[in-house]
Amino acid sequence: MSANNAFHIAVLAGDGIGPEVMAPALEVLRKVGDKSGLSFRFTEAPAGANNYLATGKSMPDTTIKLCEEADAILLGACGLPSVRYPDNTEIAPQIELRFIFDLYAGVRPARLIPGVPSPIVGADKRGIDLVVIRESTEGLFASMGKGVVTHEDARETMVITRRTSERLFEFSFRLAERRKARGKPGMLTCVDKANVFKAFAFFRGIFDEIEKKHPGVKTDRLYVDACSAMLVKRPWDFDVMVMENMFGDIVSDITASLIGGLGMAPSADIGDKYAVFQPCHGTAPDIMGQGKANPTGMILSAAMMLDWLADKHGVESAAEAGEQIERAVDEIYGGGIKPMEFGGSNGTADITKA
Ligand code: ATP
Ligand code: MG
Repeated sequence: MSANNAFHIAVLAGDGIGPEVMAPALEVLRKVGDKSGLSFRFTEAPAGANNYLATGKSMPDTTIKLCEEADAILLGACGLPSVRYPDNTEIAPQIELRFIFDLYAGVRPARLIPGVPSPIVGADKRGIDLVVIRESTEGLFASMGKGVVTHEDARETMVITRRTSERLFEFSFRLAERRKARGKPGMLTCVDKANVFKAFAFFRGIFDEIEKKHPGVKTDRLYVDACSAMLVKRPWDFDVMVMENMFGDIVSDITASLIGGLGMAPSADIGDKYAVFQPCHGTAPDIMGQGKANPTGMILSAAMMLDWLADKHGVESAAEAGEQIERAVDEIYGGGIKPMEFGGSNGTADITKA
């Protein structure tokens, strides 16, 4: 456990560009820690496709134990196209972690950083600052590995439980309240398909129940199709959005692209006790080892970690340190940093140094 603003962080750098974006994030954490009176102990541990090739384990027991003991978990990216399990599925220990640690809330903020181009007309003036909360342990993904395929048909089952939905919505309302306290709209939109599927009507019904406990939060309900259309027309109208796993998978890829690119987008997978912080992007083998990777999403994930640690342990200086990182990112992009990811000339080292 943490004591006196000292935090023990499990570091799983992973494969591909994972280690290339992890090193900058640790460097930034050390710097901001020195300024804010926070200290970090980083313990690195193997996970991913390279480790699977070397040892036959993509998520060794010793790594899981470290994650259990640490105050938070930082993850780069895992998996490589050429490495698969014998049943031909992808090496994705990040998904295993969600189930092992019951990380039901996938938090995917999409904030347009001034100076970064968005494909949405008007976004530079109106801004984009929203958060997608993707339920991460059930929904259609509960069927993972359990689908039934015959010659004639294929079936997968969606599961939505009261227990997970209640915790998911509690988390979402609390996040909306915390954002409101920071001067953001603090509005929460439930995204589903309640008009067609009973499971989503159930989901929305639980949302309605939890809403009663949070009268200060303005809410909205949208069907996922209408929501998707609105996201590419008026993304600035959204604040916090909460949805089922598969919808969240898709919608969060849309929102990541609204803010300029995969390399910009941070994420967190959060449960009642544990949390994993990692960028939205994958291992990007095409650019690996060339110094081109944009570390911003990883660095912003580290900032989210500070905010979560601050909330969990009541250490206000950690929240301030997280905001300092966000401000620094805003400043460097406002000041003309242009990652190679967007056709600029700045690689990993330039962005980290800036
Ligand atoms: P996964 O299956 O792990 O999600 P993916 O196939 O979705 O992976 P990514 O690895 O996320 O793919 O990357 C897609 C492409 O986007 C990469 O090939 C790379 O060119 C680019 N990209 C992703 N992340 C970054 C980054 N941090 N910096 C620069 N370019 C990136
Ligand atoms: Mg992907």
